[in-house]
Order: sequence, then C-alpha cells, then structure tokens
Amino acid sequence: RAKKQGGNQYSFQSFVGLTNDRERMEMANDLSRALERNELCLYYQPQYCVEEGRIIGAEALIRWQHPERGLVSPVVFIPLAEEMGLITAIGEWVLRTACTQNRKWQMAGLPPIKIAVNLSPRQLQQDSFVHIISTILLETKLDPCYLDLEITENIDMFETDLVLEKLREIKAHGVHLSLDDFGVGYSSLSYLNQFPIDKVKIDRSFIQKIRSGHAQAPIVSAIIAMSKNMQVRVLAEGVESEEQLRFLMEQQCDEVQGFLYSKPLPVDQLEKLLVEKLTGLRKD
Ligand code: C2E
Ligand code: MG
Ligand code: MG
Ligand code: MG
Repeated sequence: RAKKQGGNQYSFQSFVGLTNDRERMEMANDLSRALERNELCLYYQPQYCVEEGRIIGAEALIRWQHPERGLVSPVVFIPLAEEMGLITAIGEWVLRTACTQNRKWQMAGLPPIKIAVNLSPRQLQQDSFVHIISTILLETKLDPCYLDLEITENIDMFETDLVLEKLREIKAHGVHLSLDDFGVGYSSLSYLNQFPIDKVKIDRSFIQKIRSGHAQAPIVSAIIAMSKNMQVRVLAEGVESEEQLRFLMEQQCDEVQGFLYSKPLPVDQLEKLLVEKLTGLRKD
C-alpha cells in the first residue's frame, strides 16, 4: 500500500507496475472512466470460522477489467485512485455493490454471511461518510451486523479524533469494524487501543513465516493471545499451508482466510459455495 510521507507526497510504491509517466497518465485517464464503463467488479474471498469449520464471511476485493491490459490488481490502481481523488466514488460503489450482493444472497435463502469491505483513509475523511453508510444500508435493506468494514492504520494522525467519532457512529448502527494488515505498520497497537475494533486481521506476512521453529510464530501467538485478552476476534490472513492452519488451530485463532481454502472468487462461484451449504474446512 502507498504510505503517506508527510505533506501530500507518495512514495513510488504507489506506482508499482506502472513503468513510466506516460503509462501512468494513460492508466489514470482510463481509471477515471472505469466506473461508468462498468469495468470494475468485485471478487469475494471466503472467511472461515476455525472452530465450526464453515464459511462465515467473505471479503470483497475489487478488480479492474481493463479493455487492453486485462485484469489490473488493486495494488496498482487503488493508490492511483486515491491520488486522483476517485477513491470516494469507487469506494461508495464497492460498498453499495457488496451490500446489495449480500442482501441478494440472504433473500435467496442462502446461509447468512458477513461481507467485509476495505476502506481507504480518504473515505473516512469524507464529512458525509456516516451518511453514505446509513443510506446504503437503508437502500439495500442489509442488516448492519452483516457488514464488516476493514480499516488500515494509514489514517492521518491529525484526524484521528474526527475519524474516531465517525467510527463510533457507524458502530452504533451495528456495523462491525476490523483492523486490516495488523502488525505491519508503526502504530497497530495504538490503533487497536483507540478505535472500537471488533476484529484484528493478522497480516499475511506473519502467517507466511509460520514454519516449524521459525521466529515469527511467537508473534502470531502473541497477537492471538492479546486479541483474546481484549475480547476482539482474530483472523489470520493469507493462510496457505496445512502447517500454518495447524498452528493457528492450536493457538485458537478464531477465523482464517487464504489460498488454502479459496482464492478470491467471482460472484457465481462464491454463491456456489453458499448453495452447497458448505460444511467442514475445505481446500480449493
Ligand atoms: P487486503 O485487504 O489485505 O486483502 C487481502 C489480499 O491478500 C488480497 O489481495 C487477496 O487476494 C490476497 N490473499 C488472500 N489470501 C492469500 C493467500 O493465501 N496468499 C497470498 N499470497 N495472498 C492472499 P488483492 O485482492 O490483490 O488486494 C490487495 C489489496 O488491495 C487489499 O489488501 C486491499 O488493501 C486493497 N483493496 C482491494 N479491494 C479494495 C477495495 O474495494 N477498496 C480499497 N480501498 N482497497 C481495496
Ligand atoms: Mg482487507
Ligand atoms: Mg488492506
Ligand atoms: Mg490485509
């Protein structure tokens, strides 16, 4: 993710995959039309409850089907959308699409799951953000307890009070809050301490290092233990191997998400999982 470096400068990380200025400008131009041209879509990655071994949620992950380039990663175009001021419109589209989809599944009688939506700091800075959320919930008739908002810690520190107020209001509606990419930033602990968080998502860089005897495993167990002490749920991101899963089970991690179970899926494939009324942990 692009990190803000004081002022409004962004590091070159945000231009990953874009080789030169011309390419970047072309991409920016194309992105400004992507919404109206219906080139954006959501994939859904299942989230599993470890204890019950069943799907309890899905994270909405945006994709851009570029007419010439094919599928573009959000790692490339989300930072661009943030810099271009397009992220609020795109973010609102993501929220509305994800909530509409989840309500559709529930109306079809499928087992209810939570839909997790990633938020950009810019969205939380919008004055109208709380209003946008409540409008979307009203429009889609989705019960707020089935919406889970994922925030990261790159919120401007000067605005934490304002953001905190908005998050409290949103929570008062019954929406859930998750802290994404936990452990990689500078201030994970202070965010956890300040914000009304329901769930911690351990960043996949820690999970990937779980191998017998590897020094990262104690960090994962410590995050799990801390979450339990603070009475927040804890999810491990990027679970790819049986060995990682075994370790996470031993440590009584609440939820898991990763390629071991499933990659992010197009709508119809996630729906199939729900229709199969999937029970038992499963590898895809
Ligand atoms: P994230 O929110 O941390 O999402 C998890 C990322 O890890 C996803 O990448 C997912 O495909 C990937 N992943 C899941 N399981 C595994 C695994 O087992 N192994 C590996 N190697 N990767 C795994 P994706 O879809 O490319 O998204 C990247 C990031 O882009 C997201 O990270 C999120 O920060 C951002 N993003 C995606 N969709 C949206 C959106 O709608 N709005 C905003 N603001 N950001 C988004
Ligand atoms: Mg996320
Ligand atoms: Mg993230
Ligand atoms: Mg993450």
